[in-house]
Amino acid sequence: MVLDALSSNEPVLRVSELRKTYRESELSVEVLRGISFSLMPGEKVAIVGSSGSGKSTLLHLLGGLDTPSTGSTEVCGKDMSKLSDRQRGELRNESLGFVYQFHHLLPEFTALENVAMPLMIRGTHTAQAEQRARMLLERVGMLGRTEHKPGELSGGERQRVAIARAVITEPRAVLADEPTGNLDRKNAEQIFRLLLRLNEELETALVIVTHDPLLTRRMDRVLRLDDGQLYVSS
Ligand code: ADP
Ligand code: MG
Repeated sequence: MVLDALSSNEPVLRVSELRKTYRESELSVEVLRGISFSLMPGEKVAIVGSSGSGKSTLLHLLGGLDTPSTGSTEVCGKDMSKLSDRQRGELRNESLGFVYQFHHLLPEFTALENVAMPLMIRGTHTAQAEQRARMLLERVGMLGRTEHKPGELSGGERQRVAIARAVITEPRAVLADEPTGNLDRKNAEQIFRLLLRLNEELETALVIVTHDPLLTRRMDRVLRLDDGQLYVSS
């Protein structure tokens, strides 16, 4: 276990003076120019910003999926740069859940197996992991689809499976990158409700990249990424 008990006034995520520069041949682009941000337990934050402003880059850095050029990232009080790859992976598995814009489910596995995967990775027995996966699939209204593979599901169904997978470990925070970007209104609304319900029931903090005013309205804070910096959105 990398994780100790987290007190309720300690941030789940804290980044400070984060900078990220991408270099391609002679060209270098500074996408993030000094971002400082904390996410408190149970807090709901939306990140908005135009296409190419660096939202996905920021989300990846927040979750330790990528490393910043300079600046620090703490997940549950642990400095990600001071951990080995393996410890970073463990910390992510224990404390964070990810929902990507395009679901990232494993095509060869069933919905049930996909959802159970984060528990299998940490060594939970198959029967126990699958029992819990079934519970989560029921919560997202997908109990009738447990044996389907991602290719046999609709976009909204895949996204529901992806959310079940993201929360099966009861993470401290879920980071979602335009989770409803490819869904119609009705499906998008269902996915929102699901995320908000998880936030209420499990006190899972949420960071959601979204353009949808129906969702931003229901968040505690809305931050705008512009020219590499984060601003409080009015
Ligand atoms: P957003 O999610 O807000 O649309 P991104 O974070 O995906 O923005 O991208 C921000 C900028 O960084 C874009 O100009 C993009 O082209 C560039 N970028 C993103 N990922 C890479 C990468 N791996 N290599 C080089 N440039 C990248
Ligand atoms: Mg993006």
